[in-house]
Amino acid sequence: MLNRRDKSKPMPVKYWSFAGLLLTYWCNARCASCYTCSSPSARTDMSVEVGLELWKGLISASPHGCRIHISGGEPFGRWETLIELAKQANSAGLAPLEAVETNAYWARNEKIIRERLTALHDAGMFRLKISADPYHQQYVPIERARLLARLAEEILGKERVRVRWEDWIKEGFDTDSLPLEERQRVFATYARKGRDRLTGRAARELARLLPLKPPECFADNPCWSALLRSRHVHIDGDGVICPGVCTGIILGIADSSKSIGGIWQNLWYNFADDNIEEQNDDIIVTLARFGPVALMKQAERLGYAIRPDGYASKCHLCWDVRCWLFENGYFPGRLGPASVYKP
Ligand code: SF4
Ligand code: SF4
Repeated sequence: MLNRRDKSKPMPVKYWSFAGLLLTYWCNARCASCYTCSSPSARTDMSVEVGLELWKGLISASPHGCRIHISGGEPFGRWETLIELAKQANSAGLAPLEAVETNAYWARNEKIIRERLTALHDAGMFRLKISADPYHQQYVPIERARLLARLAEEILGKERVRVRWEDWIKEGFDTDSLPLEERQRVFATYARKGRDRLTGRAARELARLLPLKPPECFADNPCWSALLRSRHVHIDGDGVICPGVCTGIILGIADSSKSIGGIWQNLWYNFADDNIEEQNDDIIVTLARFGPVALMKQAERLGYAIRPDGYASKCHLCWDVRCWLFENGYFPGRLGPASVYKP
């Protein structure tokens, strides 16, 4: 299939060269900004064996290899799996672990931080990414994020630590004890900075704090880049592959009968210019070629009611329409996993 590619045209689907393994959907927190809808009651986990298979599959699916980061949910909530996966991937000579993401909830004292960061460093982790913002600080004391950042810089070096967001960790505060109205005000102020993807729980909880616009404002806004050309995907413990920024849209499900490389090749074949007309009933075609307003119109014909107050962004519109489609059983192979639509 790939040999027939016309090299004068851009590739319909970019190679996946940056992938996040979602080690678990479990999280101690339930942040208003969470696009994976993670929470203490979420259950899907990734075993070490599955993680290694997915890691190998991602590397072999692209001629350029694939940079792997481990995310979640909160991967430190599955510490034994996290460190074992990193160690075994390192021993097997797989691509180095680019980063691990955390909200720092576990960083209660220096001893445990030193032990875990040293173990991850020895297992080949390059970077630690720490999440800190008003939504996370509803669930994690900011002092833990600060302690972790300080010790991580000491142990790993400054260039191997990223905090999202640097301005907040310097000036921020815990938001859990704020009265609800005040917390919403802080969230609204922060959400207006436009740093959050309005999908998943963020679409449910943050979008209503933002100015809303009629859907026509998001017309002529195709999503080919985000869906198929971003190079970035996330993959969970069930093998569900989603575009990096489009939670809830399934590019494919890797399992013993479907390799990651095979899924990528099928997408490439289906979305090549010569073949795309045959895929017109695929939600990815609608979104990639025309954007969420086209999907909304399609859903409206099926019974979806446009929100009279409007939408905060094109992704909020897309999410709202997709939730309705999911609830009503449309596009079952493309919309999921269920945990993000029905957390
Ligand atoms: S945003 Fe991160 S810390 Fe917050 S609930 Fe989601 S996975 Fe957990
Ligand atoms: S509108 Fe939908 S498909 Fe487009 S970038 Fe946003 S979430 Fe992805």
